[in-house]
Amino acid sequence: MQTLNFIDGQLRGARSGETDDVVNPATGERIAQVASGDAGDIDDAVAAAARAFPAWAATTPRERFERIDALADAVEANLGELKELECRNVGKPTSIVDFEFDLTVDNLRFFAAAARFAEGRAAGEYLEGHTSFLRRDPIGVVGSIAPWNYPLNMATWKIGPALAAGNTVVLKPSELTPLTALRVAELAADLFPPGVLNVVSGRGRTAGEALVTHPGVDMVSLTGSVATGRRIAELAAASLKRVHLELGGKAPVVVFDDADLELLVSTLAEMSFYNSGQDCTAPCRVIAGPASYGEVVDRLTEAVAALRCGDPFDPATEVGPLVSATQRDRVAAMVDRARSEGAEVTVGGESMPGAGCFYTPTVVAAPAQDSELVQREVFGPVVSVQRAATDEQLVEWANGVDYGLAASVWTRDVGRAMRVSAQLRFGTVWVNDHIPIVSEMPHGGFKQSGYGKDMSIYALDHYSELKHVMVRW
Ligand code: NAD
Repeated sequence: MQTLNFIDGQLRGARSGETDDVVNPATGERIAQVASGDAGDIDDAVAAAARAFPAWAATTPRERFERIDALADAVEANLGELKELECRNVGKPTSIVDFEFDLTVDNLRFFAAAARFAEGRAAGEYLEGHTSFLRRDPIGVVGSIAPWNYPLNMATWKIGPALAAGNTVVLKPSELTPLTALRVAELAADLFPPGVLNVVSGRGRTAGEALVTHPGVDMVSLTGSVATGRRIAELAAASLKRVHLELGGKAPVVVFDDADLELLVSTLAEMSFYNSGQDCTAPCRVIAGPASYGEVVDRLTEAVAALRCGDPFDPATEVGPLVSATQRDRVAAMVDRARSEGAEVTVGGESMPGAGCFYTPTVVAAPAQDSELVQREVFGPVVSVQRAATDEQLVEWANGVDYGLAASVWTRDVGRAMRVSAQLRFGTVWVNDHIPIVSEMPHGGFKQSGYGKDMSIYALDHYSELKHVMVRW
């Protein structure tokens, strides 16, 4: 198992000699001790990235394409090992990880190709005797900070566009789940010149803050919680660093009374509990019309009771543990508070006994719109269902949170689907579905879910600078 940081083309232990324990959340056992980087290691990595930047920025799009595509090949050639590492480190059921890893490889291939398609307006004469044209220049050294829910997938969403645009990267994976990123760094060792891609594992307050405040870092890109996003934006403000933030979500599922409830419930039973609900776009907040509410609660309760929760390596398992005991206890406390405020737990609502961090898949009926369960991200296998009195209230409650990452609308009326998609203040809106994503389309939040887009050609805009060049004849 690769447990060292990757700096300037070399695998290195932390300068301090410190390590972080990495735990399997399904068993509670320690599976690795990983170099715990801090300011000294970040300093080395940023210096390496800064040295590598001029030559990497000057590479042709074709060369960047070839190298990033080769990284995709290397990930693809090692998928079995990487999936196994991720399942042991995050507790993901082996039955669900194919989609995530397929997207990881596809995303790298998309950005490899995108390097060759950066667009600008054609040259033109806007002042007599002068020709103007636009360039897209890389920003410099990008500090990328990734979360634990899709460790490698989120890391590649950041590495791909940053490298494609000609930047060099220092990636800090989550200290809870660094194993796949560290292994991919090793796979990348011969594919990029030293310093182009560096991976330093370590904690948020040490390695993370050192990266955000480092004067040699030109841009910080985070996928993480709203609280971390706020802290990073504050720290980055001192040097006016560019910040790209993909933060939390609280996705509403807006169910009109004409919706196909069978399709709705089968989608929710899978997608709300995918990755144990630890998904920033998870359909976790169902708001149903007055005529369909009762049926939605009953059918969903029945479907959720049938979900198989347990050993991630059992192919029949649909829902695994939460990532840590801390996260499991946080989820349990939020459900307990909802219950004590009068909401009804119709299924689940319990931590499972044993050393693993399991929480039973849960449905909570009728929490109040202003309750914590509706307003705050739970990030666990918990779905709430509310009854709205009118069509207007469905949309008002859907929009009535601080978050704005993703939402879905369920109706058979095309006109209503179009109208409500326009009214919802979220970065992605699905109609009669929830969760599918593709590399070609942007992903990112409105409101406190952050700013800047991941995936798609639009991500390249965030990782590059537009420059006007004006030439006098
Ligand atoms: P987190 O904010 O605790 O940690 C994310 C990363 O930030 C980790 O690498 C962590 O070490 C680092 N970090 C923490 N404090 C820091 C600090 N002060 N300075 C610098 N770095 C710091 O988030 P998490 O618990 O790992 O992930 C779950 C969160 O991520 C949820 O809120 C989820 O919604 C969000 N998320 C968002 C998206 C999206 O695309 N919008 C995708 C996945 C996850």
